[in-house]
Amino acid sequence: MTSKHPETLALHAGWRRDEATHAVAVPIYQTTSYQFDNTENAANLFALREMGNIYTRIMNPTTDVLEQRLAAMEGGVAALAVASGQAASAFTVQNLARAGDNVVASTDLYGGTWNLFNNTLRAQGIDVRFVDPGEPEAFARATDDRTRAYYAETLPNPKLRPFPIAEVAAIGRGFGIPLIMDNTAAPLIVRPFDHGAAVVMYSLTKYLGGHGNSIGGAIIDGGNFDWAAHAARQPALNTPDPSYHGAVWTEAVKPLGPVAYIIRARTVLLRDLGAAISPFNAFLILQGIETVALRMKAHCENTLAVANFLRARPEVARVIHPSTLTGRAAEWAAKYMPRGQGGLVGCELAGGAEAGRRFIDALKLLYHVANIGDARSLAIHPASTTHSQLSEEEQAATGVSPGYVRLSIGIEHIDDILADLAQALEAAGR
Ligand code: PLP
Repeated sequence: MTSKHPETLALHAGWRRDEATHAVAVPIYQTTSYQFDNTENAANLFALREMGNIYTRIMNPTTDVLEQRLAAMEGGVAALAVASGQAASAFTVQNLARAGDNVVASTDLYGGTWNLFNNTLRAQGIDVRFVDPGEPEAFARATDDRTRAYYAETLPNPKLRPFPIAEVAAIGRGFGIPLIMDNTAAPLIVRPFDHGAAVVMYSLTKYLGGHGNSIGGAIIDGGNFDWAAHAARQPALNTPDPSYHGAVWTEAVKPLGPVAYIIRARTVLLRDLGAAISPFNAFLILQGIETVALRMKAHCENTLAVANFLRARPEVARVIHPSTLTGRAAEWAAKYMPRGQGGLVGCELAGGAEAGRRFIDALKLLYHVANIGDARSLAIHPASTTHSQLSEEEQAATGVSPGYVRLSIGIEHIDDILADLAQALEAAGR
């Protein structure tokens, strides 16, 4: 596939037809294991002397198409699909950091990622230092010799301030530290590798799957980070791995290209921790990806219209959308999101938490669910749901106030979306 256009790659990368049957749709290879040709072939596969299928916990032909497609669309070199976005986030960090190491992360994160970093990774001995993404230099200040990675979200909700990717990636590269970007909220409209990120991760559950039917996650290796040049900084990829008969990943995978990071994630983390995506979910997500370019356009257009509508309503104290930003944040919105400002919009209801609850309960078209990025429009009150496990100070640090309502605008006709919002705002204002 020679195209560089994600719209084309979304339909064609990684697959043409099934050679045995000529089927055009990607088959669902619902198998756990694969018959080896002979004992030599089996030994070669296990020793990574030959690449091929061994066991579906580690690789699967349906999932392989999904991985090739995602890598091509993102402009990376290889990808790993996993069971959920959470598993993808955990793996991106665990692939570089071990007990005693640390990563520097943006404060503006999905609540589940915040919990993973603040509690579970800490309990594993990996310290996560949170810094304000409004000040890229804060990443440098939080760095020491045990810092292995920087981590951030492209368009974090609830604040919806685009992250300064190039600014922070450049700081990291000076230290030999890769920037890992969670691009879940902005597939196709932001391409973090173009701005210097080294690793991109997705919750495929959201826009890429797009139909609210499958949980999945992915990690994409940009192939643009020279791990071997920073051997002291990145020991996980540059020292012998006792779990793989002493392989040094940067050397062992040289013949395959700049893929040490993603190969280790598969052969060590996926092998040991087992967060494999099912082939059926990989198939459903591939179906979603075929139309993601069209959907993202519609999400962006409808969401901008909703933001403008909300701004004019008396029940709304504040609208949160990239188009309402000022200062440095507005410059970053213009720099990183010229193709569209995403499908999320927030509003702060003048009546506070009580108005937030009345608004949500009055919605008829929008679903009240803990999800984003569905083709349908969705709404949630984060303070009482997605962010409820955070303390009030932690909620405030991530931008969740009591009256904040988050909307994930779908691809329905805009008149229907606005009509539902209008009647729910009237109920909230009563
Ligand atoms: N990253 C972001 C930005 C998310 O919104 C989510 C889920 O809401 C995740 C990661 C986690 O993904 P999953 O729910 O697929 O585990």
